[in-house]
Amino acid sequence: MSHDLERPDLYIDGAWVPPHKGESVDQIEAATGQRLGTAAMANTDDVDDAVRAARRALIGEWGRFSAADRSAAVLRFAAELKTRGRDTASLVSRENGMPIRLSGIVNGLAPALIAGYYGDLAAGLDAEDVRPSPTGGDTVVLRRPVGVIGAVTPWNYPHALAIMKVAPALAAGCTVVFKPPPETALDGYVIADAALAAGLPPGVVNVIAGGREAGAHLVEHPGVDKVAFTGSTAAGRTIGEVAGRMLRPVTLELGGKSVSLVLEDADIDLFTSKILEVSLPNNGQTCHAATRILAPRSRYTEIVDAVTDIVSGAIVGDPLDPATQVGPVVTEAQRDRVLSYVALGRESARLTTGGSKTRDAGWFVEPTVFADVDNSSRVAQEEIFGPVLCVTPYDDIEDAIAIANDSAFGLGGVVWGADADRGFDVAARIESGSVGVNHYELHINAPFGGVKSSGLGRELGPEGLQPYLRTQSIYRGR
Ligand code: NAD
Repeated sequence: MSHDLERPDLYIDGAWVPPHKGESVDQIEAATGQRLGTAAMANTDDVDDAVRAARRALIGEWGRFSAADRSAAVLRFAAELKTRGRDTASLVSRENGMPIRLSGIVNGLAPALIAGYYGDLAAGLDAEDVRPSPTGGDTVVLRRPVGVIGAVTPWNYPHALAIMKVAPALAAGCTVVFKPPPETALDGYVIADAALAAGLPPGVVNVIAGGREAGAHLVEHPGVDKVAFTGSTAAGRTIGEVAGRMLRPVTLELGGKSVSLVLEDADIDLFTSKILEVSLPNNGQTCHAATRILAPRSRYTEIVDAVTDIVSGAIVGDPLDPATQVGPVVTEAQRDRVLSYVALGRESARLTTGGSKTRDAGWFVEPTVFADVDNSSRVAQEEIFGPVLCVTPYDDIEDAIAIANDSAFGLGGVVWGADADRGFDVAARIESGSVGVNHYELHINAPFGGVKSSGLGRELGPEGLQPYLRTQSIYRGR
């Protein structure tokens, strides 16, 4: 099923409608810099329409669905996402440069799996929860949907991040106004196609791509009951302030600067075989990418050389080519931002490979490694969001853990070591929402999220459903 690349309309109240101001933005292919299609952009009036539609749906037919009906609806939605998965994977690769081998998994397969997971969880939500009272009588604890959800996402894993919000929201009985970013609006509208084909009642899912102004209007809209946001820490702080002022529940999945901590006894072949996967996934445009590599001084030169070899040998090219390991970054502005960090790195550390843009057409940056990086330097402390790695030496395990935790962020991380139990103990000492031992991979049934400036709340797993539910206790007397 090939996707429509010309999207002049927004999806509101179960129908395709033109934006109030008729605004649209050219969608640009990351690998070529050429026009890929067009996508409608919402303004504040469109946001108002979408929120009203979501509110009507909440108190209408959808609000009367039983948990079993909702489960069936979400499973139909999952099936529609699956049907579209292969083409969605290619579309996202064209939008943001993600190598197809990764996009096939995270944008092609994962959305349907996540929706299926929450569709299954939805089935049990009507189960009676009756708790005897110590003084006689009992309490019936009901689980209610929180209400209308404002979902705002970034461009880097656009389809998966959207479904990580939309699917648990629907499972809980909420309705959604989803705002994809302007850079990856086209795959956002595929979610509307799937919702329509799945027969979700009008207004249950509304898709209105737009920029910062539309996002800001949505998150402070009086008709929204909860905000689910993934994006930069800077925007997350602003949204958190709004939520605080309005006493509105919010989940914030924000930036990261995670470590890849190599213990002295680590299997270097295993470590090097996974560098591109855990440290440079999606061309480094990954919130949990382990871009700070911490190496023991006893093996420092060996590790710097190994990282340099792998990164300099990475296959850079067309994201649609299955052989490609590193594609372009998402936009020209992002390329220039990454190159400005490379310039900073050259002043404070030793460049061992990369450091330039590779061609004029498309937004390619050479995979880059800096060695001898001081952990207090800006390239070690700030999220670069491009194919740039830092290697920092450490003296002993206490030093390594101190460096790992000397970060404003706490989202991912990996520990490499021959002794899995010791690796586990070290992982548990890293201040981060998730850490891998000798690998790193998100699991659908395990919570994912950050600590410190990486955010608030969790997505995935049963924990990812809770923010969309509120309890109501009905006390029954004797
Ligand atoms: P961004 O914050 O600029 O934009 C993200 C989304 O928020 C976009 O849809 C944008 O239009 C909207 N937006 C921006 N400012 C807003 C505001 N004040 N109010 C409401 N909406 C607003 O981020 P980006 O550059 O698109 O994405 C990259 C960032 O996302 C990185 O920092 C990355 O680490 C983070 N991210 C985090 C996770 C996670 O799970 N923790 C996952 C992926 C990406």
